[in-house]
Amino acid sequence: MAKKIDGKAISAAIRGEICEEVKDFEREHGFAPSLTVIIVGEDPASQVYVKNKQKACEQTGIRSDVIRLPEETEQSELSELIEKLNNDASVNGILVQLPLPKHIDEKEVICAISPKKDVDAFGYENAGRILTGDFDFLPCTPAGVMELLHRSGINVCGKDCVVLGRSNIVGKPMAALLMHDNGTVTVCHSKTADLPSHTRRADILVAAIGKPKFVTADMIKDGAVIIDVGINRNSEGKLCGDVDFDGCFEKASAITPVPGGVGPMTITMLLKNTLTAAKKQN
Ligand code: NDP
Repeated sequence: MAKKIDGKAISAAIRGEICEEVKDFEREHGFAPSLTVIIVGEDPASQVYVKNKQKACEQTGIRSDVIRLPEETEQSELSELIEKLNNDASVNGILVQLPLPKHIDEKEVICAISPKKDVDAFGYENAGRILTGDFDFLPCTPAGVMELLHRSGINVCGKDCVVLGRSNIVGKPMAALLMHDNGTVTVCHSKTADLPSHTRRADILVAAIGKPKFVTADMIKDGAVIIDVGINRNSEGKLCGDVDFDGCFEKASAITPVPGGVGPMTITMLLKNTLTAAKKQN
């Protein structure tokens, strides 16, 4: 039977540490680290994510400002706003909540954020730095997965690591981080032939594809570590991951639940990046 990796508890411990570091920062500099979140339009899921980010900032003493813009905002207005925030020394981190309305070019917006304030680490400079290993910020979800592994005493060095999914925000940086930790990494995607032959070799399997309960017990190795990044709704509307938790629980050595696994770590890593940005700028 597997050990359940408690993302909520690990996240709470890290937030406690961040809280102390934020207090130290404020004592030294006379102001708190600050994050500005820009949200365009009324997407209900985005509204919830932004509210959660604001709450997490408040809890750890980080100043958070939310700029709400209407759906019809033009690309140039958004770019001008980002430029203003880039030049505002009182703003340490800038995050543009995705997705953006269809008429706006997401890539252009993300790359307009100063790399020093790009706390989501989605811009090209930070993406490149992640590949070279010379980075200040890591994208929050893969960074959260690495923290879960480290704080659960799971050593990546020399292990066969299989990542399901190759998105720019999860799969690709995840593979890079596992490689930096000396794992031997395979990345699978929708065109991978005989995907179970790869997953069955994995000592550490990270699932990030967005398909409810896709990974079943017959697809994993005895004693594997299973990290479930997926956030899906099942047919009853209940939250579930990309992994069949109950089936895999019996066979794995460690596994993250959904909810309560990777999810809580993502915002925690955003707080950490904001603190890092403030320290680097001051
Ligand atoms: P994307 O949709 O951007 O990417 C999905 C990836 O999965 C693609 O690379 C795709 O392959 C691959 N894929 C899709 N279907 C299959 C399949 N049947 N077999 C193998 N590979 C497949 O998703 P994200 O990376 O943004 O997110 C992945 C999941 O993680 C989602 O459930 C999302 O909600 C969740 N998530 C959770 C976060 C958290 O905080 N816990 C944060 C971010 C995301 P291809 O490239 O070939 O199309």
